[in-house]
Amino acid sequence: MRIHSCVFAPSRVLARRFRALIVLAGLAGLAATPVHANTASFLAELWPQAQARGVSRAVFDAALSGFTPSERVMGLTQSQPEFAQTVAEYVNRRVTAAQIATGQSKAREWAQTLAAIERRWGVQDEVVLAIWGMETNFGSYMGNENTVHALATLTYGGYRESFFRGELLTALEILNAGHVAPQNMIGSWAGAMGHTQFMPSSFVRYAADFDGDGRRDIWTNIPDALASTANYLHEHGWRPGATWGYEVHLPQGFNFARAWEVGRQSLGAWEAMGVRRANGRDFPRPSDQARIFMPSGANGPAFLLLHNFEVIKRYNNSDNYALAVGHLADRILGTGPFVQSWPSGEVALTRSQRQELQSLLNQRGFNAGTPDGVIGPLTRSALMQYQMSAGLVPDGHASAAVLSRLR
Ligand code: CA
Repeated sequence: MRIHSCVFAPSRVLARRFRALIVLAGLAGLAATPVHANTASFLAELWPQAQARGVSRAVFDAALSGFTPSERVMGLTQSQPEFAQTVAEYVNRRVTAAQIATGQSKAREWAQTLAAIERRWGVQDEVVLAIWGMETNFGSYMGNENTVHALATLTYGGYRESFFRGELLTALEILNAGHVAPQNMIGSWAGAMGHTQFMPSSFVRYAADFDGDGRRDIWTNIPDALASTANYLHEHGWRPGATWGYEVHLPQGFNFARAWEVGRQSLGAWEAMGVRRANGRDFPRPSDQARIFMPSGANGPAFLLLHNFEVIKRYNNSDNYALAVGHLADRILGTGPFVQSWPSGEVALTRSQRQELQSLLNQRGFNAGTPDGVIGPLTRSALMQYQMSAGLVPDGHASAAVLSRLR
């Protein structure tokens, strides 16, 4: 879920720090870290903090006795994927026939629960199912790490220590409240837990006890987990009954420059610019505000994104993630694939290729600013001017094709 994105964002810096730590650990044994002398002193320092949060000694000991920092968790801090992926690759790898079929089968299996959840929180079944599918493949992969031990490893290792120490103490509070047994509190190496992949701090704020047994169990109780997801979206402003957005078709001669400038405007205003739903139907609520998303520029599917798209991004702050959730939700409902096809053979530009693109634009007199590898408004505008001068469709899309042409 979203806390991943804030955990993962500065990954390169963190990975460097951890590499240094692992080198030290390799030289001197894992217990000798630059942050804590040994696990005994770490636990001795941690205990009063847990106690201050109301954690009992018995719960503390049950959760942390025999704690040894996990080399596997440390190693995973370095393994952030840095390869570039196109939106098409991202979506196609996640919204698969198998995933859609599982989603439809779960929709039947949990129909009554999902209907009750929608009555209470106003979040449609297929959206809750799509997030469940995206986060843990419908509970088949929640991560195998003991959450307390993973968070203790990260804290002990000094990996964003204050953040993870806070999450660790909150995890202990959750155990103390009896929501889950220590051995069942499992999740990702970075502390995202259970079916919903909530960080402990999100659990405290958003987890729901749907079956009414007094425990908020997102690990083994599916109604609790689904309700927690719906509650999370509701609390972040989900609009009941509204969708995430629409696949749209852009007209010949579409004014890309204006589309980039305008940001959000009503569906009716987009319609006035010639934008139509790809399936030919009308926009049901023309006054709804939307922004345009053209992940492959003029040559692939385009989308108008509504308010609920931004709410999905609160789970994970990525347009690709939210598009995959929205599309998986639609597919679970029985809607077909995107009408327009993705450009074949498209490859995503790496950061250094984006920098090269910016340098080449600058060399040709189109001001793309400092070549930092970030395609912002200045680069896009330079790119559109170049595209116009070269007789290309001026969509401002930084593609491999335009880079080879510039070379
Ligand atoms: Ca419960």
